Amino acid sequence: MNVPELFASNVFNLQVMQEKLPKDVYRSLKKTMDRGTPLDPNVAGVIANAMKDWAVEKGATHFTHWFQPMTGITAEKHDSFISPTKDGKVIMEFSGKELVVGESDASSFPSGGVRATFEARGYTAWDPTSFAFIKDNTLCIPTTFVSYGGEVLDKKTPLLRSMAAINKQAMRILRLFGNTTAKCVYPTVGAEQEYFLIDRKMYDARKDLVFSGRTLFGAKPPKGQELEDHYFGPIKTRVLAYMEDLDVELWKLGILAKTKHNEVAPSQHELAPIFTITNVASDQNQLMMETMKKVATKHGLYCLLHEKPFAGINGSGKHNNWSLCTDTGVNLFDPGSTPAENGQFMLFLVAVIKAVDEYQDLLRLSVASAGNDHRLGANEAPPAIVSVFVGEELEEVLDALEHDVKPAGKQKQTLKLGVDALPELPRDTTDRNRTSPFAFTGNKFEFRMLGSTFSIAGPNIMLNTIVADELRIFADELEKAPDFTAALHTLVARTIREHKRILFNGNNYSPEWTKEAERRGLLNLKNSAEAFPRFASPKNIALFERNGVFTAREVTSRTEIMLDNYSKVLAIEGLTMIEMGKKDIFPAVNRYIADLCSLIERKKALDLPYAQEQALAVKLSKENESLFACAGEIERLLTAARGCENAEAAARFFAEKVIPVMQEMRAFADDMEMNTAKEYWPFPTYGDILFSVS
Ligand code: ADP
Ligand code: MG
Repeated sequence: MNVPELFASNVFNLQVMQEKLPKDVYRSLKKTMDRGTPLDPNVAGVIANAMKDWAVEKGATHFTHWFQPMTGITAEKHDSFISPTKDGKVIMEFSGKELVVGESDASSFPSGGVRATFEARGYTAWDPTSFAFIKDNTLCIPTTFVSYGGEVLDKKTPLLRSMAAINKQAMRILRLFGNTTAKCVYPTVGAEQEYFLIDRKMYDARKDLVFSGRTLFGAKPPKGQELEDHYFGPIKTRVLAYMEDLDVELWKLGILAKTKHNEVAPSQHELAPIFTITNVASDQNQLMMETMKKVATKHGLYCLLHEKPFAGINGSGKHNNWSLCTDTGVNLFDPGSTPAENGQFMLFLVAVIKAVDEYQDLLRLSVASAGNDHRLGANEAPPAIVSVFVGEELEEVLDALEHDVKPAGKQKQTLKLGVDALPELPRDTTDRNRTSPFAFTGNKFEFRMLGSTFSIAGPNIMLNTIVADELRIFADELEKAPDFTAALHTLVARTIREHKRILFNGNNYSPEWTKEAERRGLLNLKNSAEAFPRFASPKNIALFERNGVFTAREVTSRTEIMLDNYSKVLAIEGLTMIEMGKKDIFPAVNRYIADLCSLIERKKALDLPYAQEQALAVKLSKENESLFACAGEIERLLTAARGCENAEAAARFFAEKVIPVMQEMRAFADDMEMNTAKEYWPFPTYGDILFSVS
């Protein structure tokens, strides 16, 4: 296999553009990509035709605008290239207009009330900053998605806006430090993706996996992850074949799939790509998740991306590694070794610290979902409390800057920004804190709270916007200052003093931290129903409007969509539990009880001991009755939920009323599973599923 030749062979990237487009057209398009200038309408037709020729040569027959509505996944509607000719034949055609805009009757996508059904039209518009690619014989054009009235209906547009915001403010800071060469700053992201891989037959036999993506019932298997023998363990043959195939498919799409290994739980794995510019990373993570599922099918496997497919063993997350980079290739979170570099680094660092402290709520809600509620704060993932890890060395430096003293034993004199270089900071130390939700890891931040199914667009919109806003405030202050170095020093020291409560280097999983965080006044939004409504607080709406990322209406509609989605997911889970409980578990256990009863009768007749059988029949009978009663209670609650006055009330109702009964029902089922003979149990157990792939 010739990997360099294979790589990006299905992508209409710069190299292909240069080859296939006339020079002036290429230059015009490149200008649009680099500077965001509007595309010259005359060249769209030429580009479309070149794209089509290239795609047809590669076997494509269709094209689609590929976009990211608020469902969190991607959407596509395929059109073929065919166009009839007079002689009853067809030619392959693709016009500039078809490339640039698409109109789709998109009334079924969530809009949170922004788009009434009578104005159902939605428009997709080509995003020339992300390359077109071929997937399933279809030319996919990455696009944004907006309503007839111009409101944004997707995840990509606000991401691009947030990138523009941080570019603008970061450039102001760079100019203050005398940088005249950089033309732009963009955020970079590397998203590590966790997933489970199970046998397809196991998946098909579990309605809960099919309907909700996670197991709603299931007793602990005799062996889980306690031996820690799976993490980084040798990869099984079937899994390896899958991973190799997956790499090839991802490489063809220009995705820099790099690191793969087994994760903590049995059947759990991870794939990490090399980082790239955020909007591309976001597109590629979507494609990666889709490809993971598709390739699994070919191997008779199923790829579970849910945050918590199995209770009692680790769930799956996604680590969002984030940094800022100039077009000249400088990482702004690289501490550097000269005093000037250090001063600039410190300013960017404290901007992030301040941003995370002031907008804990936004980061928290950007990672909230019904699925991720099972992970956050459950001793396997960061808690629901947001804090920043910087490591001890850096915290000492921050301390010294705050108090204008020398860092303990490290520095000969008082540390002055712009005069002294920082002490060598260890990069990527092995003892680095894995429990922190937001950790500085040497030259980037790792936001670890994301769930495995998430579109990374949401959390990155928040990150870019909150940091852009702090940089704006800093730039305003520093641009006015008569003595830049003195002002920088004051600003950094003050910011550390005011926001150091968000710094925490200890064990975030410990109960002491929860108490300590409360004492510090940090937010602890325990579940999605509590977190989502914070999005639309006046402080947050003002932030998004100020930075041109969302309008007030876009914020309120998105809040509505997230709350609604949460309730819908739980309603589906509730209905699935009722279905499995009443139709599968209840009759199965009753069959076993019936057999036990006839056995007891026969034993009685022969004067054989039957006490154990009887005790078991009694226990199972009681539990099965309770299970059935729980199903009835969930039914009643689901009906009641429909009467809630608004989306927030409904979400709270699910969190507070429905979930506890679901848990109760599950406990009965799981205990019965432990006590029912194997041949009676109606679906594969955790043991069957988790060790199904050899
Ligand atoms: P871990 O030990 O957490 O697995 P790695 O060093 O393997 O960490 O990196 C994890 C991810 O961080 C990778 O996807 C990598 O590409 C990404 N990454 C590295 N540098 C940057 C950066 N400057 N900006 C964004 N992501 C980065
Ligand atoms: Mg990591």
